[in-house]
Amino acid sequence: MVDFAFTEEQELFRKAVREWCSKELTLEKVREMDIKAEIPREIIKGLADLGLLLMTVPEEHGGAGADWTTACIAAEELGYADISIAVPVLFLVETAWGFVTDKYCTEKVREEVIRKAARGEAFIGIASTEAGGGSDVAAIRSTGTKDGDYWILNGEKTYISGTEEAKKLGGGHFTLVRTSPPPPGAAHRGMTAFFLPIYAPGVEVGKRFEEMGRMAISTGSIVMDNVRLPDAYRIGEEGRGFYLTMEGFDNARLLIGATCLGAAQRALELGMQYIKERKAFGNPIGKYEGIQFDLADLWAELEALRSLVYRTAWMNDQKYKHGRFTPLEVTKYISAVKLKVPPFAFKVFEHVMLWMGAWGYTKDCPLEMGLRGIMSYYIGAEGAMNIQRIIIARELLGRDYIPYK
Ligand SMILES: Cc1cc2nc3c(=O)[nH]c(=O)nc-3n(C[C@H](O)[C@H](O)[C@H](O)COP(=O)(O)OP(=O)(O)OC[C@H]3O[C@@H](n4cnc5c(N)ncnc54)[C@H](O)[C@@H]3O)c2cc1C
Repeated sequence: MVDFAFTEEQELFRKAVREWCSKELTLEKVREMDIKAEIPREIIKGLADLGLLLMTVPEEHGGAGADWTTACIAAEELGYADISIAVPVLFLVETAWGFVTDKYCTEKVREEVIRKAARGEAFIGIASTEAGGGSDVAAIRSTGTKDGDYWILNGEKTYISGTEEAKKLGGGHFTLVRTSPPPPGAAHRGMTAFFLPIYAPGVEVGKRFEEMGRMAISTGSIVMDNVRLPDAYRIGEEGRGFYLTMEGFDNARLLIGATCLGAAQRALELGMQYIKERKAFGNPIGKYEGIQFDLADLWAELEALRSLVYRTAWMNDQKYKHGRFTPLEVTKYISAVKLKVPPFAFKVFEHVMLWMGAWGYTKDCPLEMGLRGIMSYYIGAEGAMNIQRIIIARELLGRDYIPYK
């Protein structure tokens, strides 16, 4: 049996999130956040009160115990409201990396960060990328050396979302370091994940990057200079860090798809309103086929991608709840979501801005915030486009066709 309907509970949840967003996350407030380059604490508190922060973490650990389909609904609604996508980034990074941290961490880390982050009183992000490259996760050079019941972490992570938010709220990042030399031909082995508290001695946060979009959430670098962490901060088994990181990326990429869908939907609606009102040559421009056909194409593609996102969310839920589908089968679909939705959302913003003529090029029009924000996921935050293609091709053709070791 195939049933494409959301449950009544999910519909009510969507309504509640939309209602909150329509008051607290208006386009005017989004513009203000974009200018001030900060997400106000009240917004973070509001997200926590709605039960959105770390919502897929089990209730007994402080989350809402929600499934991934429901988390996608939240991401879509937040993207619809905040088209700059700064608030959705905070939501999705914390949800994806809070989940994987909670799943494998010790009770100490759960107490110190997971429960607090779910209440909006701490931040949790991901610090994987290094200056030498982000896509080749197996090439990470930061190290973790065992010292009795402690680990000494050294290295530098860069382009890390939420460095300022972690400084402000407390918390830190899920991080990945090399803890043993890799066996030949298996560079992804020998890496271990840790929770890196932002205020641990030896952690230094670098200057915030000046980025082009999603201005209200920070991106910076983190230096680890002989950071001495008790073994209790290790996440998962020694040497398994790469796999945990891939699990986090998968969940983040799914939520990115839903976020970009929501933003694209909003852009299309703003565009429809505009083309009904704006007149040229005696008619609303929405009467002209040149505009109508573009609208119809964008709408059709949006609906096709919405089906892909929610089908993939359903597969992810089936995987976690019932052990259906192999994790890599789900990964293939998630990579398809990451590959297709951000560029499509970017295209919607671009086309609708064209419908708006000169007004679309001003900051009185909200759309430019969307174009700038969506570009972050198009360019490669949480995984570059070609990496998604490599994952999909690997799953379609088999590992023998991976072009490198
Ligand atoms: C706004 C923003 C926020 C970010 N936040 C975080 C964060 O919170 N935590 C974190 O760890 N990282 C973060 N990143 C980093 C992000 O994960 C990396 O940018 C991403 O993994 C790509 O790495 P790179 O930028 O080093 O590009 P590279 O890996 O150098 O890739 C450059 C280009 O080469 C292509 N390419 C690479 N390898 C291949 C190949 N084998 N075949 C074909 N093409 C290839 C890629 O598709 C890309 O187009 C963020 C990035 C941005 C832009």
